[in-house]
Amino acid sequence: MTQITEVVYFIKGQDEMIPDSHVYVVGKLDSQDLSLIDAGLMGKGSYKIQSIQNMGIELKAIARIIMTHTHLDHIGCLAEIREQIPWAELWVHATEAGPLEEGDERTVYGMEMFQNMCMMQYSLKPGAFTFYVDRRLQGGESLDIGGMTWEVLHIPGHSPGSIGLYNRLEKILIPGDVVYADYAIGRFDLHGANGSELKNSLLQLAELEVNILLPGHNRIVKELPSGYIAETAKQWAPYLT
Ligand SMILES: [Zn+2]
Ligand SMILES: [Zn+2]
Repeated sequence: MTQITEVVYFIKGQDEMIPDSHVYVVGKLDSQDLSLIDAGLMGKGSYKIQSIQNMGIELKAIARIIMTHTHLDHIGCLAEIREQIPWAELWVHATEAGPLEEGDERTVYGMEMFQNMCMMQYSLKPGAFTFYVDRRLQGGESLDIGGMTWEVLHIPGHSPGSIGLYNRLEKILIPGDVVYADYAIGRFDLHGANGSELKNSLLQLAELEVNILLPGHNRIVKELPSGYIAETAKQWAPYLT
């Protein structure tokens, strides 16, 4: 785990055959009101909890887990992590909260072939990813958590309830799997994905001033060139219809 700013810590995903999402810990340490952003792949919970403890952060300071979206590589180890911090609330965008509570796992797995493969490989039972959601997030709200403010952006296209979290003061963007470093974007062929929505979401993000880009996978970028997201949207526009 590495410290990105005074208020953001980064735990790198440990990819296997399937990627494991990064986890970010956000909030002022003395606030006792920290948030984890995303969880990761099955079996990847204990090293993330260990990383947090190794940094000297007390688990009891973690108040919630906010999901950028509910794909398997982000939610796979949510249950493992919650065993260690059972008091932590779960916050998810309203669009993916309903299916999550009902045990509708189409968004979690994204496609049937992948679902069958994962259920076999990880011995998962149907309904393994059914969770009560403590708070349903909406685009346009501001979260005053951990002594700082994060704006919630609804940025569908990669998944129907994808959110970005934006800290305007420090120009930090956590976009989930919508946009990555190196002009890459999230895939848009899974259940509930939509290319033209993804294009609009990228254009929405392009309006923001972003210095620090903290995506769900691959490299993080600490000094993002200005216009980076607009340029990414432009490069991908012909494919996003
Ligand atoms: Zn995803
Ligand atoms: Zn992902």
